Amino acid sequence: MRSIVLHDTRSGALRPLEPRDPGRVSIYACGPTVYARVHVGNARPFVVFSLLKRFLAHEGWDVTFVANVTDVNDKIYDAARAAGVPSEQLAREMTAAYVADTDALGLGRPDHEPLASETIAEIVALIQALIERGHAYAADGDVYFDVRSYPAYGELSHRHVDDMDQGEGTDPARPSLKRDPLDFALWKAQKEGEDTAWDAPWGRGRPGWHIECSAMAETLLGVGFDVHGGGSDLVFPHHENEAAQTAAARGEQLARLWVHNGMVRLEGEKMAKSVGNIFLLHEALAAHGRDALILYFCAGHYRQPIAYSEERLAEAARSVERIKDAGRRLVAGPSPPELAPLREAFLDALAEDFNTPRALAAVFDWVREANRRSEAGEQVGDADLRELLGVLALEHLLDADAAAGGPDAAAQALLERRQAARAARDFGEADRLRDELAALGWEVRDGAEGATLVPRA
Ligand SMILES: [Zn+2]
Repeated sequence: MRSIVLHDTRSGALRPLEPRDPGRVSIYACGPTVYARVHVGNARPFVVFSLLKRFLAHEGWDVTFVANVTDVNDKIYDAARAAGVPSEQLAREMTAAYVADTDALGLGRPDHEPLASETIAEIVALIQALIERGHAYAADGDVYFDVRSYPAYGELSHRHVDDMDQGEGTDPARPSLKRDPLDFALWKAQKEGEDTAWDAPWGRGRPGWHIECSAMAETLLGVGFDVHGGGSDLVFPHHENEAAQTAAARGEQLARLWVHNGMVRLEGEKMAKSVGNIFLLHEALAAHGRDALILYFCAGHYRQPIAYSEERLAEAARSVERIKDAGRRLVAGPSPPELAPLREAFLDALAEDFNTPRALAAVFDWVREANRRSEAGEQVGDADLRELLGVLALEHLLDADAAAGGPDAAAQALLERRQAARAARDFGEADRLRDELAALGWEVRDGAEGATLVPRA
């Protein structure tokens, strides 16, 4: 097996992937808080860790990928109140929309997608363990983590304990119950206007965001799993707190490696609802198609911020065309052995901190050389290119229907609206959209990797 290294935030260095269980790799990546449709920035960790899983599986590892859904959170209460709907309903609708939107990326689903609302018993047990070990305290229905009881606090994000702010704010209607402003909430007593709550030994309420992830990850992967991922904006406080809670309760590290992706930026700013510069994933998919979007993400190294711009997307669309164009000249069969070093270069690039831009450069070197040979009259077999594109879920670019043009943006948009309708269980509308696609010459095929369009026979 090729040895694989990833950048680990805790050690601040490239570290070998040495799994806890021989032959098996377990990955947990923080998913979205479901209070609105997901944007392109939210899609980045989904794409990065789904593709990392594909690469590790290609290398022969048995991979388990968990991506949670945060469906209990302050933001959900606030958005539901503003919309005048029950928070549970908003969370359910936005979870369905998230599944439909990310389905349209055509990367399959993570192996497990736990909901915080379905992990309450495990969350309560973890909080109890923290109280028993002297790392947490209850105060008037709330429970707080005692940060100064855990000496390694700050180790993941490389911050000094006195320079930190949990960003929890203060409720003017309620004096702070924290013993120290550094402490953070594990459980919050139900407040006026919060319509989703559970009974717990400290009273009726709901969990804090950080403890939800510690419990979901441990429930599905155990403690000491291999890779904990997420956006770099989660390093502090979310991941620092996850790491502290689990280590304090269990005496063992939550994860071996902490891997963080950079932000998607628009004109230099992080794409975020709070900044108001959002491109929604389903809009981006409708405008550019999933192939260009996948290539757009792969054109940047996962750790670096990437700009979201028409120019970058147009560049990705040209890359799609270059691959399709090469595909038309290739024949089915083994590739020339002289091109094997480029196959190795692609896989080595991914093994070295998942360097997708370097891997793509190897793909285009391969394409250039294959084109040169085809033009010289040689029959060039497509096997290597098909294999490499398969790692990036792009192998269909070499197939005849894709090469003949593939579904345009309008057809992709209809397909996406159909998926959203199905997710919302509006089957009448889903059927109507299927008929509309049929009128355009496309048949919808539902498969394990999501729905795809094939030309009608
Ligand atoms: Zn999380």
